[in-house]
Amino acid sequence: MRFADFKANAEVCKMLSGMVSSGRIPGALMFHEDDGGGAVPLAMAFLQYLGCTNRQGEDSCGECPSCNKISKLIHPDIHFVFPVTGGSIIPSSAKPTSLSYIKQWRDLVLSNPWFSERDLEEALGIEGKSPLISVADAKEILSQIAFNPLEGNFCAVVVYLPEKMNADAANRLLKSLEEPPAKTIFILITHSPEKVLPTVASRCQLVRVSSAGRPIGDGGEENALNRELFVSLMDAVASRDLAAALEAGEAVASLPSRDRIKSFLSYLSEMMRVIFLASQGLSSVAHVHQEDMSAAERYAPSLKKSYPRSLLPVIDRASMMIDRNVNQKIVLCDLVDKMFMI
Ligand SMILES: [Zn+2]
Repeated sequence: MRFADFKANAEVCKMLSGMVSSGRIPGALMFHEDDGGGAVPLAMAFLQYLGCTNRQGEDSCGECPSCNKISKLIHPDIHFVFPVTGGSIIPSSAKPTSLSYIKQWRDLVLSNPWFSERDLEEALGIEGKSPLISVADAKEILSQIAFNPLEGNFCAVVVYLPEKMNADAANRLLKSLEEPPAKTIFILITHSPEKVLPTVASRCQLVRVSSAGRPIGDGGEENALNRELFVSLMDAVASRDLAAALEAGEAVASLPSRDRIKSFLSYLSEMMRVIFLASQGLSSVAHVHQEDMSAAERYAPSLKKSYPRSLLPVIDRASMMIDRNVNQKIVLCDLVDKMFMI
């Protein structure tokens, strides 16, 4: 992957290439993507540029030995960590770590770079389980970065979904994140920065990756309808009008497909993140459509600061119920009810 493959993230690419050319590369970066937003291949494009021995202006050459190994995910100085557990491919009794699944990881990233969390679970044969990044994984990372890079001039650890790292694992890693060994860079890729342990998040420079790079069909129209539904729901919540909120919930439940309902729920999650950022005075790092930002800023002042954080797991759960074919009216009615209780 080269930066040229990420036109929708041109600004992010420019910033990343600027870090390399100025020699001021932070020890830890945290990419915030929407699920399936392509931040993993973007991180690889960045590492490819960093390792390239024949850079072409602001992009890698894509052909030198370093580019070649990085693009195939077989560079010996780049390590991957992602949430795992036992499943149909590797039994729990084998106590799998990320390294146990490295083949499945490579196959997935190469065949479907814009993969989602669910795609990964399917690829690892762990659907419906609760994967996490355990202390065994943290130990493995630390042993991998304990030595000087084998080939290039840097060592990198790509951590997919640091929000699924347990506290023991995070504690092990903290010292390295705080003072990364020379020539070592950590790239964390999260879907929910607010769920990453604050001790970890505070050591990373946050980079918002735009999901507009994702090859989806009529995202624009879908996004506009999601925003409309969101506004009618939040207006009702803000004015404590339960009947109007239930009506808005019913409109969501009547969307034509379960996927469409899930699309709304993921929009609702994203907007809760934007409201959270807006309430912290961090609107400028949210990088969302101006109209979405205006909608978020409208509700941020009237909600408790803890509201988005409390609601996110409730939305996740609603989305899971939709996946499991639970009656959509019941799921939405329950969600609206909880939006009032929180
Ligand atoms: Zn190259």
